[in-house]
Amino acid sequence: MTTNWAGNITFSAQRVHRPATVAQVQQLVARSSSVRALGTGHSFNRIADTVGDLVSVAALPHRVEIDSAGMRVLVSGGTRYGEVGGSLSAAGLALFNTGSLPHISVAGACATGTHGSGVGNPNLATAVEAFTMVAPSGDLVSVSREGAGDEFLGSVLALGRLGIVTDLTLRVVAGFEVAQTVVEDVPDERIGTDLLDMLSAAYSVSVFTSWARGRSAQIWLKRRVDAGSVGSGLEVGSGLEAESGSDKWGGRTAAVELNPVPGMPANNATPQLGVPGPWNERLPHFRMAFTPSSGRELQTEYLLPLECAAAAWAALSEIRDQIAAQLQIGEIRAVASDEMWLSPSSGRDCVAFHFTWVPDVAAVLPVVAAIERQLAPFQARPHWGKVFTTDPTTLAELYPRMSDFCALADRYDPGGKFGNQEVDRWLSEA
Ligand SMILES: Cc1cc2nc3c(=O)[nH]c(=O)nc-3n(C[C@H](O)[C@H](O)[C@H](O)COP(=O)(O)OP(=O)(O)OC[C@H]3O[C@@H](n4cnc5c(N)ncnc54)[C@H](O)[C@@H]3O)c2cc1C
Repeated sequence: MTTNWAGNITFSAQRVHRPATVAQVQQLVARSSSVRALGTGHSFNRIADTVGDLVSVAALPHRVEIDSAGMRVLVSGGTRYGEVGGSLSAAGLALFNTGSLPHISVAGACATGTHGSGVGNPNLATAVEAFTMVAPSGDLVSVSREGAGDEFLGSVLALGRLGIVTDLTLRVVAGFEVAQTVVEDVPDERIGTDLLDMLSAAYSVSVFTSWARGRSAQIWLKRRVDAGSVGSGLEVGSGLEAESGSDKWGGRTAAVELNPVPGMPANNATPQLGVPGPWNERLPHFRMAFTPSSGRELQTEYLLPLECAAAAWAALSEIRDQIAAQLQIGEIRAVASDEMWLSPSSGRDCVAFHFTWVPDVAAVLPVVAAIERQLAPFQARPHWGKVFTTDPTTLAELYPRMSDFCALADRYDPGGKFGNQEVDRWLSEA
């Protein structure tokens, strides 16, 4: 029995494979009539599921090949961000951003639009310049930004629907250092008045709140301490200005290290207290060697236009008791706009409202539905890898290029080999 990381999904696959070579993946795909890739299994819904062959890419040969002159790195699809981060950092290079944890695979993260934070930082898939995948025939297909043109924007963030990605080439930037500071005891109501100011106060910012009445918020500020301005969004929101303002918003700078998830040890989190360190050891919240987040949880997240941040906060505040009753911790981040067809941040700079729930599906689903009702006026798009109930008609309205994606999928995969019940349903009204 194979489950996802959180244990809330037991995959329906008849067979689970852990091929050791790309050639084996090609044979498996060619033979199968229904097949999906599995990354590190950190998604919270049935996005990776199949009734046929589930192919884990974890045992494929590990590749991290740095091209310093070309400012690129080629990684095998199953490589985890923590692994590529360590190698790049040692070579004086960096990715422009990471998600909250280094444990997830690059291919899996890019397939779902995984993002970190920063008003100048788009999602992680925007760093992809090229990739190779096993197509439905079993053939290896190479796709590049240069060669594929507009279709590239539909092919990277593809929900695992086009093929099994065996390697990706990512754009890299010069290495940089980050200092992380936490402002604690910020009165929760200040989020309503100062959210945009908070989100733009450093290179990457996370606002943590329990949504409970009378409880205070924590603002995690990840400041670049170099004067770097090296492209890929790094010149935007460098956060160098934030240092002296870190006791703003009615809070105070934390004097001891913290974990954003209540009750979890500070040791699991990346170093704080303003001590500068390599980008890969500060941009994620959680350390590679420890359990990220709480480990027993469900997650939900919605991305909506940044300019609606205060109004969306107010709308969610109307149901804050309902939210707080099932919540471990909420996180609010910023994600810069991109052009990918299925990206939740496509065409608009976004604020992302994230919820780490207790691991109780029956209790959480009604709250998720209530959040969707409150956020409906703001064109909120759900994170593809988390728990949501947004219906296919609404999804089709939220993604103007979803029909282009379906046409692309039909062309690559006319037999629907890489479809599954969940993803096919999401795309069904395009
Ligand atoms: C503790 C925790 C913290 C998280 N933090 C963040 C965060 O900060 N920001 C954020 O945006 N999200 C976050 N997430 C969500 C997570 O990043 C996404 O669910 C992501 O897709 C997980 O990657 P994965 O490798 O585990 O993918 P999986 O869950 O294994 O798969 C997800 C999708 O990718 C496809 N896929 C995987 N590998 C391949 C491949 N080689 N080729 C083609 N398709 C593939 C699968 O078929 C599936 O459709 C978090 C999740 C957890 C559990």
